[in-house]
Amino acid sequence: MNGSIATPKTLPEILAFACAAYGREPNDELLFAWRGALDQIPIRELREALTEHQRDITPDGRDRRPRGSWLPSPADLLAKVEAKRRSENTQRTKRGYCGRAECLGGWVWAERNTGGEPAVTRCPHCRELWENAG
Ligand SMILES: [Zn+2]
Repeated sequence: MNGSIATPKTLPEILAFACAAYGREPNDELLFAWRGALDQIPIRELREALTEHQRDITPDGRDRRPRGSWLPSPADLLAKVEAKRRSENTQRTKRGYCGRAECLGGWVWAERNTGGEPAVTRCPHCRELWENAG
């Protein structure tokens, strides 16, 4: 390793970065596999997925060493990207509101004006989001 590794910004760069971390040489075969599976994934997410993979201490089926001690396959990285996206969606839903025009931060004006004070009530769409976010 040559000490001055810049932040990878392209797929070949991140492959080279990952290979360097595992003492491997990137080659056309690897690049082809990574391109085929990961071409549509933003590099930022791939960098995070690589870091997540390296932290993965799940024993690997091959020799029970932690999974993170192997150069990740494209499928390994895709799994990390998916997991991260799912958890971010859940976080967003938990904090967020339904986004409907009539919804004011989780409250809506009561449907029926009873002639007295205008009333607000919990937005049913937000409640649904929060319940589904579990
Ligand atoms: Zn709402």
